[in-house]
Amino acid sequence: MKQVYLKRGKEESLLRFHPWVFSGAIHHIDNDIEEGDVVRVVTEKGDFIAVGHYQQGSISVRVLTFNGLEIDDAFWHSRLQSALNMRQDIGLADSPITNAFRLVHGEGDLLPGLIIDVYDKTAVMQAHSIGMHIARHAIAKALAEVMKGRIENIYYKSETTLPFMEPENGFLLGSSNDNIAVENGLRFYVDWLRGQKTGFFVDQRENRALLEKYAKGKRVLNMFCYTGGFSFYAMRGGAELVHSVDSSAKAIELTRRNVELNFPGDPRHEAFCEDAFKYLDSLPQPLPRRGVPSGEISPSLGEVGEAYDLIILDPPAFAKHRGALHNALKGYTRLNEKAFEKIEKGGILFTFSCSQVVTKDHFRNAVFTAAAQAKRKVRILHQLHQPADHPINIYHPEGEYLKGLVLYVE
Ligand code: SAH
Repeated sequence: MKQVYLKRGKEESLLRFHPWVFSGAIHHIDNDIEEGDVVRVVTEKGDFIAVGHYQQGSISVRVLTFNGLEIDDAFWHSRLQSALNMRQDIGLADSPITNAFRLVHGEGDLLPGLIIDVYDKTAVMQAHSIGMHIARHAIAKALAEVMKGRIENIYYKSETTLPFMEPENGFLLGSSNDNIAVENGLRFYVDWLRGQKTGFFVDQRENRALLEKYAKGKRVLNMFCYTGGFSFYAMRGGAELVHSVDSSAKAIELTRRNVELNFPGDPRHEAFCEDAFKYLDSLPQPLPRRGVPSGEISPSLGEVGEAYDLIILDPPAFAKHRGALHNALKGYTRLNEKAFEKIEKGGILFTFSCSQVVTKDHFRNAVFTAAAQAKRKVRILHQLHQPADHPINIYHPEGEYLKGLVLYVE
């Protein structure tokens, strides 16, 4: 096996099982190493440290194992089996009310660069590294074995994650386009052919269920709705009305179909294809405006636009890398400030960030600044996270990406 030699002392984080080798830690590499190769990582003196996938870039090796294991069929089988065992142990893999879950969450399942989401009889597999792309057939074979009797199709979808490789999306097993999945008893279409990521955001499952509990009698605004996940939970929770907003026409179309699937002909729901910032700007302000004598309330419900007492903000990642952090935090503050300005008194705000480089504290600070700027009285009711099928490898804190706050706004 070809070798990657570390600079002296640069094995420290690997000895603590952190699964990445950064380019700056490398002394030199064997001449004939190619992108996606399985390599041995060794100290300057040649002592074995780990085996992983090599790729040019700031993360040069993604570690697959710290033992001297061969990366063969048995390896993939054992890693996938261990991922499934965990989902079975926590009751997700055999749930009578949910058949959509994440089976493999990259580093969290000791498979950096690989994502596998299961939607009923179909697994959607996504490679985020060249090594995983090259191994896709071996992984699919192991996946079919491990998930025998559970899945019939494997759809490979890496066009957007590895654009420079131009990998072809397509089925590696089966070919069914039967794409209705179930989450907590609610049904939804998954568009793995054209949808974002693997077609649905399973990571919000538990947060949607929490929202359902707060929805009764509320006027709900689901901002950045994508496939409408939060919207159909709000409807089941007894919301008075639910408005879903997304700037993508495709997302709005999917939301309408999903709401129709669960609540056919229900007049409580409307969907709008609009930019989030513009939409929020167009809403009436429930508080006395600056310069308006206190007690005089600005126009509300139906006069200028809708008034909402439950708002969800689940935007796409504002920062995809560390360099974008500062602007991303400003973006979160600006967005949340608009929601604080517009939400009714006694309203509840579910606000999220899915940017990996934005920490819990960063995000809380950005939202804190927004609350202060909007001069609202705000209490934190819940601090939310990614669910258990998106586990965080304890040695890889970067794996914590989804954070949310549920806020009571007066
Ligand atoms: N809440 C969703 C996931 C949101 S993904 C769920 O539970 O599944 C982020 C969504 O934001 C995408 O659908 C994208 O089309 C939308 N989006 C991105 N920029 C936007 C903008 N400026 N205004 C409105 N929607 C936007």
